[in-house]
Amino acid sequence: MGGFFGVTAKRDAVMDIFFGTDYHSHLGTRRGGMAVYSQSQGFQRAIHNIENTPFRTRFEADVVEMEGNAGIGCISDLEPQPLTVRSHLGAYVITTVGRINNEQALVDKFLSNGRGRGHFLEMSGGRINPTELVAALINEMESIPAGIRHAQEAIDGSMSVLILTEGELYAARDLAGRIPVLIGKSEDGFAVSFESFAYQKLGYDDHCDLGPGEVVRLTPDGLEVLFPAKDKMKICAFLWTYYGYPNSHYEGVTVESMRYACGKILAENDAKKGFSHDIDYVAGVPDSGTPHAIGYANQSGIQFARPFIKYTPTWPRSFMPGSQKIRSLVAKMKLVPVGELIENKRLLFIDDSIVRGTQMQGTVDFLRGYGAKEVHIRSACPPIMYGCKYLNFSRSTSEQELITRRTITELEGKTGEAHLEEYADSTSDRGQAMMSAICDKLRFSSLDYQTLDGLIDSIGVDPSKLCTYCWTGKE
Ligand code: SF4
Repeated sequence: MGGFFGVTAKRDAVMDIFFGTDYHSHLGTRRGGMAVYSQSQGFQRAIHNIENTPFRTRFEADVVEMEGNAGIGCISDLEPQPLTVRSHLGAYVITTVGRINNEQALVDKFLSNGRGRGHFLEMSGGRINPTELVAALINEMESIPAGIRHAQEAIDGSMSVLILTEGELYAARDLAGRIPVLIGKSEDGFAVSFESFAYQKLGYDDHCDLGPGEVVRLTPDGLEVLFPAKDKMKICAFLWTYYGYPNSHYEGVTVESMRYACGKILAENDAKKGFSHDIDYVAGVPDSGTPHAIGYANQSGIQFARPFIKYTPTWPRSFMPGSQKIRSLVAKMKLVPVGELIENKRLLFIDDSIVRGTQMQGTVDFLRGYGAKEVHIRSACPPIMYGCKYLNFSRSTSEQELITRRTITELEGKTGEAHLEEYADSTSDRGQAMMSAICDKLRFSSLDYQTLDGLIDSIGVDPSKLCTYCWTGKE
């Protein structure tokens, strides 16, 4: 995924950019970057690997050397960025969040169009840096805003862009508004952010959410709309259920509140279905499952508890060992049980989603190993039937890896693919058969999913504005 943060102000903004970018660390695990501009120093930039060390620790020596009233920062799950560019449009620094499905075609076209005769630097592994490709597309036009729009229209996928010039910022939200881009305002400047809490914590008030495809220029004195928002929006519904930060709001809906509402609907659905097990505790798979569980507990009257707690002080989220064996070991070592809340207890756990199922199976085996009598599982979203083609989303995966698709193949082979809509509906016969097969396979005491309507109701945004492709396959 990834996220970005930027500031333009009438005072030095380095520390705002440092902390504001750090507040996006939950969105990516690979690279972090910062760039600032001052008249005396010009552009200063640093990029670091954040796979094993958090952003703040990596950049604390850099920020002492930096100065500037404007700057940008990013957390990236893939490419090193931001990139410094010198072109016929002048010097600028660019960072992006998005996904380019037609990367090869765009590269081939760029290199063969006769105009550029340019080149791209290869990253290790032979891939071209997607942010460099976006910059190349921008430079094909006569101005930065026209170039941003040209790049967005050429890209199959999605692309949000933040650019720093000599004191100004250009911010552009992707054409369908799949991810948020919000603007905060203080008495001496503006901030641009994926996460609203990042600028709020730094003393900026909410100014606006950019609309889909909206492009703006920001100076410390004001915001100018260069391309107005488009009518059609498809913001990612997973922002609320899973990867958005709890304190943030998107389209006016706070993540934490949405999760309480989602848990409440799950509890109401269980009550309607006459789910009658005597549950001792409702719990969430931390971190994002926890507020869903609070919503469930508040509605059902069943006590909320934390039968296991993640040990995070020495295992930051960004710790990603190369070997799968060590990753699994780390995941296991992080889960620390509270024995008396597990042994002989009937537990109902809520997770934000079930993707491959392996993690959830590990959690349930762990709870049973500590003596849990029953472990009932609820997913805060409907069965995931399709991989994401719009974002570099850590939970998007090849469709064959999804537990739903694997189970459907096991149930009826290739012919099952003709009935995906039915399988996605857990009230249908096929939906029931898939759910019960997953439940048995992962050794849950019971399993149920949030309905699509329940998910949409708990977000509360006009359904036509939400992307729900993961669950429906409908664009
Ligand atoms: S396909 Fe899924 S993950 Fe991707 S933008 Fe849509 S809802 Fe979000």
